[in-house]
Amino acid sequence: MDLTALAIRHVLYPLWAAQSGSTRLRYLAELEKSQYWSREMLAERQWEQFRRMLAHAFETCPYYRAKFRAAGITPADLRSREDIDLVPTLTKEEIQEHPDEMVSSRYATRTLVRDMTGGSTGSPMQFYYEPERFESRVGAVLRHNRWAGWNIGDRAAVLWGAPQDMIAGRLRDRIRTWIQDRRLILDASELSEASMRNFATALLAYRPAVLQAYANTLGLFAQYIKAEGIDGIRPRGIVCSAEVLTTENRRLIEDTFGCRVFNRYGCREFAVIASECEAHDGMHINAENLLVEVLVDGRSRTGEDGEIVITDLRNFAMPMIRYRIRDVGRINSAACSCSRGLPLMELSGGRVTDFLRAANGSRVSGIVIATYVITGIPGIRQIQFVQDEPRAVTVRLVKGPQWLPSALEELTARTRRYLGEAMQLRIEYRERIPQEKSGKYRFSICNLA
Ligand SMILES: [Zn+2]
Repeated sequence: MDLTALAIRHVLYPLWAAQSGSTRLRYLAELEKSQYWSREMLAERQWEQFRRMLAHAFETCPYYRAKFRAAGITPADLRSREDIDLVPTLTKEEIQEHPDEMVSSRYATRTLVRDMTGGSTGSPMQFYYEPERFESRVGAVLRHNRWAGWNIGDRAAVLWGAPQDMIAGRLRDRIRTWIQDRRLILDASELSEASMRNFATALLAYRPAVLQAYANTLGLFAQYIKAEGIDGIRPRGIVCSAEVLTTENRRLIEDTFGCRVFNRYGCREFAVIASECEAHDGMHINAENLLVEVLVDGRSRTGEDGEIVITDLRNFAMPMIRYRIRDVGRINSAACSCSRGLPLMELSGGRVTDFLRAANGSRVSGIVIATYVITGIPGIRQIQFVQDEPRAVTVRLVKGPQWLPSALEELTARTRRYLGEAMQLRIEYRERIPQEKSGKYRFSICNLA
């Protein structure tokens, strides 16, 4: 038994939350209850929240007011759930180009959390939410973690890309981090025999209750563990996210580590969107916080594959209404055997990244490049990395209005930090980078054998 985990869960974390005024545990408690509400009740509440958000955006965001007027609608036109298709969708380009007009006049930008997406769907962007929304986001993540057997205080190990210039925090920050988040972070931005041997050694020593990783990274690591005959890495559960989890990878990972994989769909804009429960029969949507819809020919549908659009039901500072996240999926009408009322969804396409080869031969996850190289460089509307030769990468780039020539230097320097100084970058400016027919958007493509 992990006594430290129990002490953190039952004493230290609640104490910290009470002392700092954090509301995340209250959100968690509410979500633990509402997940068992009936579908009808959840849908009814969602619709109420959606209408409230729409009215709020119409009243307080100049951008939305103009946009709804141009579409010829006012919040009063939404009489029933079927009328939702009247509400225009929102693209990333709109957010990239009008970030300030999208912020509600009830909020001052300087009081908000400023966040940024990476480029895994090719288009990095900046957005805001209120500090309270941060708490409800964490509350939701904690709930979804618990489905995978990951409780507050549990030792977790994360195979993640890390920014190459991460700085150690102050002691106070580090203690707080330890209480909130007892995670061993293994920098998986570069995968080689040597780095994977180090991961194995670290995991055998740390004995995490839960492992979290990008699906493809973990697939590659599982192959290594199997080939080397390493035994003893035995977490209770594994959370895979950020990439499409193939059936082969799921089987390989479960077989190698002797536990179930809990697939998760999330993104920077909304934190956890949906994740698997213990039934592994699709992913339950985080429906108290997000309205997830699937559009087929512009209409909101259940049971068919289509484009996923998401409304954040709690981000009043910068409303995101029917946001086109550029993933493809379906919402299922079947009920789950776990008796949670939260609707189920599947991802059918989505973000696909190949590993790129660094100049020294090691593999670098496309998700890492998307997250740590692209984030924060202004003016990149869309981007794609293509590697045809070991020492050269072609960067296809669609410039936005905020693009500056100096961004190119920054992009080159950051890319070389991950792929090696010897890597040659060829920049190709494009008008647009289309998605593939399947609806998948490929951020990185590696054509090397
Ligand atoms: Zn379930």
